[in-house]
Formats: sequence, C-alpha cells, structure tokens
Amino acid sequence: MKPRVSHKATAKGKRFLGVRYANCACYGRLYANDEGTAYVGCCPRCGKRYQVRIGKKGTNTRMFIATC
Ligand SMILES: [Zn+2]
Repeated sequence: MKPRVSHKATAKGKRFLGVRYANCACYGRLYANDEGTAYVGCCPRCGKRYQVRIGKKGTNTRMFIATC
C-alpha cells in the first residue's frame, strides 16, 4: 500500500500534514501549531506524540512517514 500524503488545509484554513505511521500501519494528521513552526499530532493507535518542524530546515515533503 502506497502512502498518500499531502499538504492540505481544513475548511477553516488550518494547515495540516497527512502522515502515515509506519509502525502502527495507520494514518493521521499533524496540525500546524499556533506559532506556525511545526506540525504536531499523535499516532491514533499508540498515542505517541509526533512533531515535524516547518521551515527551510524542516520538512517540505508531501509524502510523510512517521515511525512511532
Ligand atoms: Zn503508533
């Protein structure tokens, strides 16, 4: 199964990043924090918190896989 992940925004304009949690083989979303410096979220199965920095040194990928 290929991970299909892309930058999108909710109806309210909140940015989020689709992510596939490799260890739990499930999908989730990382939402941009209030500062706009990172996407944050938790694995829906194991609950491990995950964070991806936004910016030049952060991720700009549309295909994101997290290990949890
Ligand atoms: Zn997990």
